Amino acid sequence: MIGVTDPPPRKTVLPGAALPDLIDRARSARGNAYAPFSGYAVGAAVLADDGRVYAGCNVENAVYGETVCAERVAVLAAVAAGARRLVAAAVVTPNGGTPCGACRQVLAEFADPSLPIAVAAPGGAARVYTLGELLPHAWGRRDLDATTPPPRTPPPRPAPRMRGPDPAARRR
Ligand SMILES: [Zn+2]
Repeated sequence: MIGVTDPPPRKTVLPGAALPDLIDRARSARGNAYAPFSGYAVGAAVLADDGRVYAGCNVENAVYGETVCAERVAVLAAVAAGARRLVAAAVVTPNGGTPCGACRQVLAEFADPSLPIAVAAPGGAARVYTLGELLPHAWGRRDLDATTPPPRTPPPRPAPRMRGPDPAARRR
């Protein structure tokens, strides 16, 4: 990989034939990135369950907070075209950086935790993560239902231990 300082790839085998094509689409979209402030051009592509691919690039703004990441541009394009379920995603960044937290959350709205996300530098091999690896315990619509019990109930706390002699023994 070029310019990558991350740890070595955890997975190198692309699960599914769609990912190489998605990476190519993300790489192409990266060419349209508007990143005059950071210089960090990103391209992304998502594959919807109907077989269509949607691409995006990051779009920065002089009001920095209005900047939108490539991943969200791709997801929003998919949703605007009617897609609702995403089955794969790819991101190409200068150094193989992974999607930010906001983009992970937006992906989680339209994908299962098993969603494969290929991350690559422009000239490098891809690492493939799942969305669940990048965003464990994601917030979801189920969390908006106050009647739904939490998925993991902590074990009951043990009753505080009595100090001193057993009060029942004193009555004898
Ligand atoms: Zn992002």
